[in-house]
Amino acid sequence: MKIAVLPGDGIGTEIVAEAVKVLNVLGLKFEMETALVGGAAYEAHGHPLPEATLKLAQASDAILFGAVGDWKYDKLERALRPEQAILGLRKNLGLFANFRPAICYEQLVDASSLKPELIAGLDILIIRELTGDIYFGQPRGRRVATDGHFPGAEEAFDTMRYSRPEIERIAHVAFQAARKRGKHVTSVDKANVLETFQLWKDVLTEIGAQYPDVTLDHMYVDNAAMQLVKKPKFFDVVVTGNMFGDILSDEAAMLTGSIGMLPSASLNAKNQGLYEPSHGSAPDIAGKGVANPLATILSAAMMLRFSLNQAEAADRIEVAVKKVLAQGLRTPDIYSEGTTKVGTREMGEAVVKALG
Ligand code: NAD
Repeated sequence: MKIAVLPGDGIGTEIVAEAVKVLNVLGLKFEMETALVGGAAYEAHGHPLPEATLKLAQASDAILFGAVGDWKYDKLERALRPEQAILGLRKNLGLFANFRPAICYEQLVDASSLKPELIAGLDILIIRELTGDIYFGQPRGRRVATDGHFPGAEEAFDTMRYSRPEIERIAHVAFQAARKRGKHVTSVDKANVLETFQLWKDVLTEIGAQYPDVTLDHMYVDNAAMQLVKKPKFFDVVVTGNMFGDILSDEAAMLTGSIGMLPSASLNAKNQGLYEPSHGSAPDIAGKGVANPLATILSAAMMLRFSLNQAEAADRIEVAVKKVLAQGLRTPDIYSEGTTKVGTREMGEAVVKALG
């Protein structure tokens, strides 16, 4: 089992170090190789995703990724910005299915801005299509308008598009995931306005017929945004396109209180995957030793389950995380009165200890 370890920038290096500690005490044999990515790679090699890093990622069963980015790179041309490394990895490895669980841990019910009764026991899985939609559709660009409301004015445009096979494969991923959970898929679209999402809805309905044991419902994205805060426990698996998924998965993340708790996985058809916390590089707290490493540690658990076939070890990590929360240990982002404030390293070490 080969793992590419790509810590990246900002808090990325601090949190990945803790996840690696956890992986190292499981008694499993991994080959782990570290490489630069993002701003760190740009500084060293002039590119956020150097050839050597991409080759390592391609040759690995899984990638454990920290985070990339810093405001200081905002003025770089787009192709050289740290965030391009993630897009490059997704594209080159064909990582089309993004899994974003939003789980509310019993001990953190008060960290949410929603009433405890709305979110206690919450367990949603958002599945976001990751390689299509308006983020990748061509053509795109800037030009002088020849029609529209202001002919002759500068305009910018992007193209929203999905092909039938792209929708079919993400639909299968969602129905299969739902079979292992609450057997309920909500497909989120904007079929009332967009052709792309009328096709999306038609294909979801067709594929849904192959999974009669799974309930399928459809919801417009504006309503889904409302229902996520009104009645979040209605949802089990939510499947949607790249842009709606980007937005809704962050909304779902905040239901649970802290983005520092939420793992994610991006998989291709061979179950090769990139595992990373749902948050970014948090330049505001980088280097201070206060970042919450649990999202990254839980991402490592997802990696064991989905790409490395080590479900038992994944369970052990998830149980250990619950144990440290039950012990009252909290990084500042999830701290509340009556609990014990700890730093990044102490939290990582507590998980190692809780593994027994
Ligand atoms: P962010 O997720 O980095 O931070 C948002 C807020 O959450 C900050 O206040 C931060 O301190 C806090 N936070 C994030 N992770 C935390 C953790 N583990 N523990 C405690 N607090 C945590 O988002 P941002 O500030 O919008 O972006 C910062 C940089 O990260 C930008 O350059 C952005 O492009 C990049 N980014 C990268 C990724 C990625 O690598 N996948 C994702 C999102 C943003």
